Amino acid sequence: MRLILLGAPGAGKGTQAKRISAKLGIPQISTGDILRENIRQGTELGRKVKDCLEAGNLVPDDMILEIIDERLRREDCRTGFILDGFPRTVAQAEGLERLLERMGTRLSAVVALEMESEALVARLSSRHTCRDCGADYNATQAPVPAACTKCGGEVAQRDDDKEATVRHRLEVFEEQTAPLLRFYGDMGSLRRVNGMAPMDEVYAAIVGGLD
Ligand code: ADP
Repeated sequence: MRLILLGAPGAGKGTQAKRISAKLGIPQISTGDILRENIRQGTELGRKVKDCLEAGNLVPDDMILEIIDERLRREDCRTGFILDGFPRTVAQAEGLERLLERMGTRLSAVVALEMESEALVARLSSRHTCRDCGADYNATQAPVPAACTKCGGEVAQRDDDKEATVRHRLEVFEEQTAPLLRFYGDMGSLRRVNGMAPMDEVYAAIVGGLD
């Protein structure tokens, strides 16, 4: 199963990708997580992309494609993968097509999680994230713990989840990522799922439509 989860920031891609990954036994590949891990570890890549992430702008396509190229070649991707947060531009989607062709394989499905933008702003501005394992906590649902209940790491608001940056990320999504709906729609591989529904229903809708 080679799956792409498309959707605006906060649409629930990460949450759903983790569940599907556990169910199908294939890795979740989140370019956002990979970039944040590089920033945390102070690698050369991390130093190059830090300002982009903080401002809510996209990292250049060639850097992202290099990361994906290296990641998809690893052994654990042989039977499939779930892409979460990639591709984010038409150029990245075209790069992915070339890469899959070289690997002699193709996508199984592209699922778009659809949400209203005010709901996204509300979700992201109340989201707190573990700096170590990436677990999400939502301040509107329950008090946010100071230490992660899964790994004990520090829980804080992501720098790019401040409201002004969230609004900018949504503009970037509309301008640069939304055209992918057309790209995959034209290829005949797109399925739309209502991301506003409760988490379990969204999950059932995604998994129910997979072959
Ligand atoms: P979200 O889906 O909540 O916006 P991500 O963790 O997917 O969060 O991404 C966070 C940031 O990482 C983005 O705003 C962008 O700066 C960078 N990023 C992640 N994936 C990509 C990508 N495929 N292309 C360019 N930049 C990316």
